[in-house]
Amino acid sequence: MNKFDVVVIGGGPAGAAAAISCAQSGLEVLVVVGSQSRDRPGESLHPGIEPLLDRLGVGDRVRMSHFIRHEGYWVEWGKERHFSLFGSDDDGPWQGYQAWGSEFDKMLLDEAAAQGVQIMHRCFAETPIIEGQRVVGIKTTKGEIRSTWLLDCSGRNHWLARKFNLPIQRHSPRLFVQYGYVTGLCPNLDENPVLVGDETGWTWTAQVKPKVFQWTRLNFENFKWDPEWRPDEFLALDPVGTSGGADMTWRIVKESAGPGYWILGDAACVLDPLSSHGVQKAIMSGMMAAHCIARIATKGQQQEELVIQGYKRWQHNWFLHDAKELLTRYRQINPAFSFVKPVLEK
Ligand SMILES: Cc1cc2nc3c(=O)[nH]c(=O)nc-3n(C[C@H](O)[C@H](O)[C@H](O)COP(=O)(O)OP(=O)(O)OC[C@H]3O[C@@H](n4cnc5c(N)ncnc54)[C@H](O)[C@@H]3O)c2cc1C
Repeated sequence: MNKFDVVVIGGGPAGAAAAISCAQSGLEVLVVVGSQSRDRPGESLHPGIEPLLDRLGVGDRVRMSHFIRHEGYWVEWGKERHFSLFGSDDDGPWQGYQAWGSEFDKMLLDEAAAQGVQIMHRCFAETPIIEGQRVVGIKTTKGEIRSTWLLDCSGRNHWLARKFNLPIQRHSPRLFVQYGYVTGLCPNLDENPVLVGDETGWTWTAQVKPKVFQWTRLNFENFKWDPEWRPDEFLALDPVGTSGGADMTWRIVKESAGPGYWILGDAACVLDPLSSHGVQKAIMSGMMAAHCIARIATKGQQQEELVIQGYKRWQHNWFLHDAKELLTRYRQINPAFSFVKPVLEK
């Protein structure tokens, strides 16, 4: 009962994608989902996510949802506002999604359950279980669970890295974002999000549901929490709940895999939301980790070290590539923005 091929911590996009992909390879999988799905930010999805969703088996469900679609976004990045189109083909313009986080997560988890994954709700991972040099399971609020492979998909608090004291390398100055929702009418905003940047930082605004708008603000420095703040165009609208905040300093856990464990999604690395594909990256890391595990399961344990090294390199190279892209964009509006040399942090 309490031994699985794969135990996944967290039911966000990384955890669900990993669980579905492992189940598709014939592995027995359990997901422990701590808190009920919440309205997390992360709604804007690039059209490039569609082939991934099809592969996971949720493409049609997401296409048939009521999520708002957009063909690109407005950009005002140190110069005049222009429209940045995603692209098009013979079938017409490509469209992204404004996927409401909790509904999107539920679609993925429902698909995981349909593909035979066991899901334990309101169950929190507490400590990893280690035998010899290997992770062999976790202690949870609902008891002990054994696994051949443990997948940490717990998000940007880096659960496993903190439990193991794995170094978390920081590559940017400290970056905090503040975000919130408002409701009402905003005739200046169509279904395409707007990104406005200047030398102090940037603001992202988007319609995420009929009459509901989301905003995110990042200041390059002098971040001060102001619960009343929101973009000027939303001042006349009614706030929905209180605004939230998140530390989005660019960071990576370099030891993102080891004997018996894999770290995925935001738990492995974080970039600020301007990178614009945190959800897509989380899903891809879920699929990649599942691919690695399936390879070890079929080719034998002696392949494990080689596959682990490949996974860590893949994570690291992708992170550095995206961080360099962000740096180039930030220097266009703030030439003083710097790339911090790796700093080791517990
Ligand atoms: C303000 C803001 C705006 C963003 N905008 C976008 C955007 O427009 N587009 C985009 O693609 N991305 C965006 N992102 C990033 C995106 O939200 C994340 O990259 C993505 O959610 C990462 O997915 P994940 O599965 O790794 O982690 P999460 O989505 O954080 O999921 C982790 C899950 O693990 C659970 N968990 C944590 N600890 C435990 C435990 N001990 N036991 C059991 N369960 C646990 C949590 O409850 C949670 O459900 C944004 C982020 C922020 C902060």
